[in-house]
Amino acid sequence: MQRMDKLRIDRDGVGLLRGVRRARTLSARLRGWLGFPCPPEAGLLFVPGGSLHTLAMRFPLDAVFLDREGRILKIRADVPPGRLIRAPRGTRQALELPAGRAAELELETGQRLTSAPDPEAPAAPRRARRPDERITVRDAAPLLLMHLAALSVFWVGFSWAALSACLLLYALRVFALTGGYHRYFAHKSYRTSRGFQFVLAFIGATAAQLGPLWWAAHHRHHHQHADQDADIHSPVRDGFWWAHIGWLLCSRHTATRLERIPDFARFPELRWLDRHAYLPPLLLAGALYGLGAALAATRPAGNVTGPQMLAWGFFLSTVLVYHATFCINSLMHLVGRRPYDTPDTSGNNLILALLTFGEGWHNNHHRYPIATRQGFRPGEMDITYAILRALERLGLVWDLREPPVSLAQYRTTNAQQQTRKNLSPPG
Ligand SMILES: [Zn+2]
Ligand SMILES: [Zn+2]
Repeated sequence: MQRMDKLRIDRDGVGLLRGVRRARTLSARLRGWLGFPCPPEAGLLFVPGGSLHTLAMRFPLDAVFLDREGRILKIRADVPPGRLIRAPRGTRQALELPAGRAAELELETGQRLTSAPDPEAPAAPRRARRPDERITVRDAAPLLLMHLAALSVFWVGFSWAALSACLLLYALRVFALTGGYHRYFAHKSYRTSRGFQFVLAFIGATAAQLGPLWWAAHHRHHHQHADQDADIHSPVRDGFWWAHIGWLLCSRHTATRLERIPDFARFPELRWLDRHAYLPPLLLAGALYGLGAALAATRPAGNVTGPQMLAWGFFLSTVLVYHATFCINSLMHLVGRRPYDTPDTSGNNLILALLTFGEGWHNNHHRYPIATRQGFRPGEMDITYAILRALERLGLVWDLREPPVSLAQYRTTNAQQQTRKNLSPPG
C-alpha cells in the first residue's frame, strides 16, 4: 500500500494528513460509527476501487489522482463535500487533501509520488531483537575500549602537535571513508586504478571501521532496504541509538557479506585487508606513538610525548570519525530538509555535511546514489567531491558522475521545508 510523506494510510485505505491530530482522533471515533473511515477535517483519501467519498467533509477538498506507478494523473481542486467521485479509468488510488494543502505540496501532473515509511506510527515498526542482535560485552568491547581510551586525553597533556594530528587524521580518514569506502566501494560512483583503490581502502581501514568490503556490503544493503524492516540501522524502525551504534555492538553484522559486493571481492588484496582489518589501525597507532616518542627525545621543549600523540592522534580522532560516520546512519535519517521525495526518511543538513565532508546531503544521496557528487546545488558544500575532482586532475581517479541536471534544479517550497517536520519520529 502506498504511503506518502505527508499522509498516513491505514489498512482500510484511509489517509490522514500528519500533524492534524484533532482529525486523527476524530477519525478513530468515526471509523466504527460510519462503517468506513471518514475524518471530518483531514484528507479522506483513496478507495482502491477508484471511487472516493467526500461525505462528512466540512469543506471542499482538493483531490489528487494517482496511477498505478504513483504518478499524478490529475489534481482536482475544490471537490464539494457530500459527493461521490469516480476516479478516472486506470486509477488505482486517489487521495484528497483539505483545501489549500495541495497547493502546499506543489504537486504537478506527471510527478511521481514515492512512498515513505510512516515514523509517526510506532505501534508496529519496532522489531523484536533477534538473539544475535543482543548487545554483549564481548561484541561491544572494541568500540567501548576505543571510547574509554579517548578519555586518556585528559591525562596525557596537550600540545598543538597532538591536536593537529587529531584534526589532520580526522580529515584524512573522513575523506577515505566518504570518498573511498562510500562513494567508491559501496556505490562505484567513479573509477580509479587497482593501486589507488588499495590506498583508499588502506587509509579507510585505519579508521577502525573494519574493512572496505564489510563496510560497503552493509551500506549497499542499507540503500536496498532504507527505513524498511530489513534495514540494519534505521532510526525510524529501531530507534536513534540502535541506528547510531547499537547495531555495531552485536554479533549479527560482524561477517562480511561478500555476495553483496562481488565486484570488489574478486580482488585478493581487498579480501586480505578485510580479514586483517585490525592491522592498519594498529600500524597508525604505533606510528603515532613512535612519532611522539621521537619528538619527546629530539625536542623536549615541545611538550609532546608518545602517549599524548597516541591519545589525541589515534584514540580521540578515531572516536570523532566514528560519530561523524554514525551520525549519517542515525541523525541523517531524522533531521534535515527533504527536497526529494525518497522512499525513506533521509534528510539534508549543512552542519553534518561540513563535519562529514559532504555526506550530510543525505537526501540528495538517497535520491541519486550513483553520483560522485552529493551536494547537488550551489551552496551545498561537498568537500569530498572537491578533493576527488583535485585527484582527477592528478590523474588518480576518473569518470566521476554528476547528478542529472533535472535533479539539481529544484525549487524549495513550503511543503519541502515542512516534510521533515512530518517525518520526525515519535518522542
Ligand atoms: Zn541512508
Ligand atoms: Zn550511500
